[in-house]
Order: sequence, then C-alpha cells, then structure tokens
Amino acid sequence: MITPLVNAAGGGGTSGLGFHVRGQLVDLGAFVSAVLYFVIFVAVVYFAIVVPYRHYQARRGVTVFGEPAATRSCPHCLSDGIPVAASKCRYCGSSLDTAAAAATDGHEEDRLAATARMS
Ligand SMILES: [Zn+2]
Repeated sequence: MITPLVNAAGGGGTSGLGFHVRGQLVDLGAFVSAVLYFVIFVAVVYFAIVVPYRHYQARRGVTVFGEPAATRSCPHCLSDGIPVAASKCRYCGSSLDTAAAAATDGHEEDRLAATARMS
C-alpha cells in the first residue's frame, strides 16, 4: 500500500528513493516505507487497545497512563486509595471528615516545607 506511493515520490522506476554507494543501492524507499508502516502500526495499536482500555478503566474510576488521582487513607479501617473528596469510606462505610483530609494535606505541606528547609 505504501511502497507505490514512496516509489512515485522518488520519481518512479525500480530503484525508487535511494542512491548508490560503491555499487550498492541504499534503498531509502524501503526505509521510508518501513518507518511509515511502523508509525501506522503503532497508531492502530494505540487506538485499538490503549484508548478503549483507558476508557474502560476511567468508567471504573481508575486512571491509567496518567497522573493518579489524589487519595488518602481511612482512619477507621486504614484502607488506602480513598478519594480526597469522599465523605464515606468505600471499604468499611464509615463517615469520613472532609475537614480532616484538608488538615492532613496541610500537615503534608508543612512536612515537605520542613524537609526543604533542612536541605
Ligand atoms: Zn474505612
């Protein structure tokens, strides 16, 4: 599919794109064809596998191949991975204090600032 186009761009003929070095034909047409084939292959894999998988995982609330959402841990069951804005734990069903989460974030920033001052 690609090879005739590349050959046409190179002026046609059996040699296509390319030049001779000491009698050896350096076939640029084949190289360009291989590169285009690879790019198209990667695009097909990306749009046929990665995008549907990411869409599927996003519907389940999981972020793949990107920045993970900020989470915190439950003070009642100590489970991790609870969204910061959540008001109930998904594992034990306890009510979570959203203000406590904000305070935790503040402590985290203080700790990071202290670490920065020490260094
Ligand atoms: Zn919990």
